[in-house]
Amino acid sequence: MNELEKFLDGFRVPHNESVRLRDHDPAWSGDPDLPKSERKRIAEEYLTQEVSELAKTQELLYASDSYSVLIILQAMDAAGKDGTIKHVMSGVNPQGCQVFSFKVPTSEELDHTFLWRYMKCMPERGRIGIFNRSYYEDVLVVKVHPNLIDGHRLPGADPTRKDFWSGRYDDINELEKHLTRNGTLVLKFFLNLSKDEQKRRFLKRLKDPNRNWKFSPADVAERAYWDEYQQAFEDMLNATSSKAAPWYVIPADHKWVSRALVSTIICQSVRNLGLKYPEVTPDRKQQLLDIERELEAERSSGEKQPEDEGHSEAEPDQPKSKKSKKNH
Ligand code: ATP
Repeated sequence: MNELEKFLDGFRVPHNESVRLRDHDPAWSGDPDLPKSERKRIAEEYLTQEVSELAKTQELLYASDSYSVLIILQAMDAAGKDGTIKHVMSGVNPQGCQVFSFKVPTSEELDHTFLWRYMKCMPERGRIGIFNRSYYEDVLVVKVHPNLIDGHRLPGADPTRKDFWSGRYDDINELEKHLTRNGTLVLKFFLNLSKDEQKRRFLKRLKDPNRNWKFSPADVAERAYWDEYQQAFEDMLNATSSKAAPWYVIPADHKWVSRALVSTIICQSVRNLGLKYPEVTPDRKQQLLDIERELEAERSSGEKQPEDEGHSEAEPDQPKSKKSKKNH
């Protein structure tokens, strides 16, 4: 067990109580009695451990073929969603993992209900799906900019009314109930970045030519709505953290903290599913034993058998009967 596990309850949003974001410190970095360099070293060690554990866990998830895992990442710009995905998933087999990034909806997507585009991307059984932004944008950016609702052309929609938003939270909660009842483990991470740290990261992107590509003027425009976003995040956490699909508020001012925490939570949650490799029935076991014996008895291409002696190297292999192989 990694020591971070004892802190995890403090980051999970309870399903039956309200949280206030101002009670969550974005700069939390573990035991203040330890020097920062030591805390960083330990967190990086945990990340390495959990990354390799996740690789094994993913194989088990794939082999047991019963559950799927949906990981949702939401945050303000520059909070480190991309880096978290890159580092935490660095050990997993790309065949068992899919990442989807959701941008401004297309006109085709706007022609459907708001959950449609996400439903099409849900992970298959045995796989890990990562949503870099998700249906939660529809109660975040859309709540902060309610005029975006016009693009959806919803009959009778009134985003100034509370019940419009409570209806959306209900839709999301029902979707997640449906997913969890049908074998999807849903894990939701809000990377909690401070306004000061966002400014520092934006300036870094502006000053370093190799990071200029990461900067978009739209990010600064959204920063002007910081308080509105914090309110929308708080409302979202309180309305949609459920027992089966909890939200975690991850301190994100130190990337080494957020990555270690996210990887620990994913590993612990998948471990708690109690997955097992598929059981081998006696018939199947016998079949595997027979095949094993047959393979072991098979001559390797470079191996010389007594009857081969005298054949020149250039001479083509003589066909071997199945019977003779089996009798070895
Ligand atoms: P990066 O973090 O790497 O810069 P990003 O996730 O910010 O990537 P962008 O293309 O810069 O990607 O931004 C995506 C934009 O799409 C965000 O501003 C987000 O708010 C917006 N968006 C996502 N979903 C919706 C939605 N349902 N309705 C309106 N806007 C949305």
